[in-house]
Amino acid sequence: MGSAFNLGKVFGIQLRLHYSWFIIFALLTFLLVSPHWSSLLWWVVGIIACLLFFASVVAHELAHSLVGRANGIPIKSITLFIFGGIAQMTREATRPGAELKMAAAGPACSLVIGSLFGLFWYFNQGMGEPIVTMAYWLAFINVALAVFNLIPGFPLDGGRIFRSILWRFTGDFRRSTRIATQLGQGVGYAFIAGGIVIVFLNPFNLSWFSGLWIAFIGWFLKNAASNSYRQAQWREALKRFTAAQVMTTNCPVVPSDVTLNQVVQEYVIPSGCRLFMVADEGRLEGTLTLQNIKPVSQRKWAMTRVKEIMTPIDKLKAAYPGQDALSILEQMDESDINQMPVVSEGRVIGLIARDNLISLLRTRSELGI
Ligand SMILES: [Zn+2]
Repeated sequence: MGSAFNLGKVFGIQLRLHYSWFIIFALLTFLLVSPHWSSLLWWVVGIIACLLFFASVVAHELAHSLVGRANGIPIKSITLFIFGGIAQMTREATRPGAELKMAAAGPACSLVIGSLFGLFWYFNQGMGEPIVTMAYWLAFINVALAVFNLIPGFPLDGGRIFRSILWRFTGDFRRSTRIATQLGQGVGYAFIAGGIVIVFLNPFNLSWFSGLWIAFIGWFLKNAASNSYRQAQWREALKRFTAAQVMTTNCPVVPSDVTLNQVVQEYVIPSGCRLFMVADEGRLEGTLTLQNIKPVSQRKWAMTRVKEIMTPIDKLKAAYPGQDALSILEQMDESDINQMPVVSEGRVIGLIARDNLISLLRTRSELGI
C-alpha cells in the first residue's frame, strides 16, 4: 500500500500510518463530538477516545504479529488505514495450526480490550458524561471489530481461521485458499448488495451514509479477496521454479571504479540488460541494477562511481541453484534486497533480480499458463 508514513518500531515491527486513516479519525471524532459542538470537554474526550481506538487497532494487529512471530511467521510491518490495520507477513504459515493461532489472536485481543472498556463503563456509571459514553463506545467498537473480523471471508481473520480448518482437514493448502478466497469475494458482494439495499430501500431505518459505507467495505473486501487469490496463485507458480531456472547467467561485468555516465553509455544502453555484476580483476565486488542507478540524479552521473551505489557483496545474500523461486522472493522481502547471486561450490554462477521473478510471473499470466 503506497502513501503511508512510518511511525517507528514496536517490538521490532515497523508501524506505518496510511493517509486514509486520517479520514476515519476525523469521521469518528465528528460522530462522537457533533451532538456537543460547543463543549471543550467533549472535544478532548472525543479525541482521546479516537486515539484509544487507534491503540486498540494497533493492539489487534500486534496480537497477530507477535503470535505469528512465535509460530515462525515473520512480520515486517503493520499499516493502519481507513478500514483498520494490516500486518504484512513476508511468508505464509507452513502449518494450519500456526495460521489458526495467528488469525485468532487479533479478534481475541479486541474482545479482551472491549470487555475491559465494558467493565470500566459498568463500574463507573457515576463518572458521568462524556467519559461513560466514550467507555461504552470503545467497548462497542472493539467488540464490533472482533465480530466483523470473524466473518469467514478471506482475507479477514475469520477467513484465515476458516482456511486453516479446511487445510487441517483436507491437507490441501491450495484448494483451501481457493475456497476461502471465493467465500471472501461472496462476502464482499453480499456487503455491496446490502449497502445498496440500505441506500435505496432503507429497511432498517439506517442512514444512506451507512449503506454507502457498507457497500464501500464490500467493494474493498471483494478486491482484497481477489488479490489474495491471485497472490496465492503466484506463490504456487513461483514454487515450481528453481534458482537455476530463473537466474540470469549472462550479466555483463562492469568494473567498480567507472562513473555512472560510462556505465549507462557503454554497458546499460548497448546491452539492454538491467542487472550487472561488478567485478575487478575477476573478483566479484557486488551487483548493480537499474534500481541502484535511478535514485541518483543525472547531473551527478559524471561524478558518481559504481562502487558508491552498487550493492556490495557483503550485503548480498546467496541463493543455491536448487532453491525454489518463492523462498528466494521471501528472502528478498525479509532482508529488503532486490537481487541475489546464485552460488554453487563457492562460485557465483548467476544472478536473480526481483525483476526476473516479476517478469516471469507476467509472462506466465500473459500466456495463460
Ligand atoms: Zn485481524
